[in-house]
Amino acid sequence: MAEEGKFPRLFGTNGVRGVVNSKEMDPLFAMRLGMAIGTFMKGPVMIGTDARTSNEMVKSACASGLMATGCNVLDCGIIPTPTLQYAVKTGKVAGGVVITASHNPPEFNGIKAIDKDGTEMNRENEEAIERIYHEGSFVRTDWTRIGRLATHATAIERYIGGIISKVDVAAIRGANLRVAVDCSNGAAGFVTPKLLERLGVRYVTLNADANGAFPGHNSEPTPENTKDLVELVKSGKFDFGFIHDGDADRTIFVDENGRYLYGDRSLAIVAKYVCSQKKGRLVVTTVGGSMCIEDAVRMAGGSVIYTKVGSPIVARAMMEKGGAFGGEENGGLIFAEFQYCRDGAMAAAKMLEIVAKEGKLSEVNDRIPQYSQCKVKTACPDESKQKVLTELSSSAEGRRIDTTDGIKIFFDEGWVLLRPSGTEPIFRIYSESKTKAKAEQLAEDYKKRVEKIIRG
Ligand code: MG
Repeated sequence: MAEEGKFPRLFGTNGVRGVVNSKEMDPLFAMRLGMAIGTFMKGPVMIGTDARTSNEMVKSACASGLMATGCNVLDCGIIPTPTLQYAVKTGKVAGGVVITASHNPPEFNGIKAIDKDGTEMNRENEEAIERIYHEGSFVRTDWTRIGRLATHATAIERYIGGIISKVDVAAIRGANLRVAVDCSNGAAGFVTPKLLERLGVRYVTLNADANGAFPGHNSEPTPENTKDLVELVKSGKFDFGFIHDGDADRTIFVDENGRYLYGDRSLAIVAKYVCSQKKGRLVVTTVGGSMCIEDAVRMAGGSVIYTKVGSPIVARAMMEKGGAFGGEENGGLIFAEFQYCRDGAMAAAKMLEIVAKEGKLSEVNDRIPQYSQCKVKTACPDESKQKVLTELSSSAEGRRIDTTDGIKIFFDEGWVLLRPSGTEPIFRIYSESKTKAKAEQLAEDYKKRVEKIIRG
């Protein structure tokens, strides 16, 4: 569906991912991709990994490829993705590479390229790297110019200092807060506890040891994987709990009563707070974002713009339109004042500031309206996707629609979003309404319509 260009696509929405030692993610692949990235970046590259068992294998191969092209490599070790992004942004290097499969199961790993400004690489630059990879048009540098490998040990300290400079430390310290944090055996274990200490927050950790076997639970912060944290929060006096995904670019919160807050809630809470600090601020989220975000932003005198699904797209729109805050409903929050990427530790620090200043998380949450979402999908051959979109938009005549990503149709009581997958033969159908029953009814109704159009 997506514009593929001349060469097969390697990078997905969040870098290249694959099962380790399959052809998609073995050392040969990692080295070749490293050579392509180095040929493109033409300068010093910072590299870091999450906590997976394959981290050193993939990193070493990729670093080897980078050095072959003449790039010096600065190895940051195990490090959250946003920490490496901050190091790149502030480090006067040509770019960065993160070896991570984020929230995927332990047998996966991935390679993600970071632009020299610390943002996730845009599609155009990824395509340039893919072209070099497929053509094999690598720089093979002269033996006198082969890149060197050095350890870079200050990235975490600088990142923590950067976050601290962007939150109200006095307010946080003064509130005498106590939190529970689940690091999901990922890279967050090296950062978040240190950050909490520096902020004067008492804490109890779960799964803070980086361990790629993921003995605690898998690294996606779903309600299922958050059960231990919920139990811990319920069992003691905590102001709230939070959980990071494997590479700590996302954070999901649990209120002081142990209630799991879906990512759209924290997005709305922080958006409202950010907008309340200065009039007329702009928040960016995707067309799949809950109505509670817009409600919250309007309550604080701000406005919302919507983009296609995908956090790099949200970040780019924030840069272009001057958005103060943005993110996705999966717990990925982006703070323009700090850096244009999802940032799990920054999200936690900002939530500490909000609770310190505005009171209990449950009450802060309850001040924002609640909605219910429903997400379903149905099989759809690639060749039928355009027909489905065309027929859906003509059948929606007279209604307000948004075609930013697929088609979003608005009703008095909510909306339905219909999106063909760019990578799989499926059509996704999301809906939202005041009640669960209405949201489900909308999604089921439109699922049937899509299936009818496919059958012709
Ligand atoms: Mg992640």
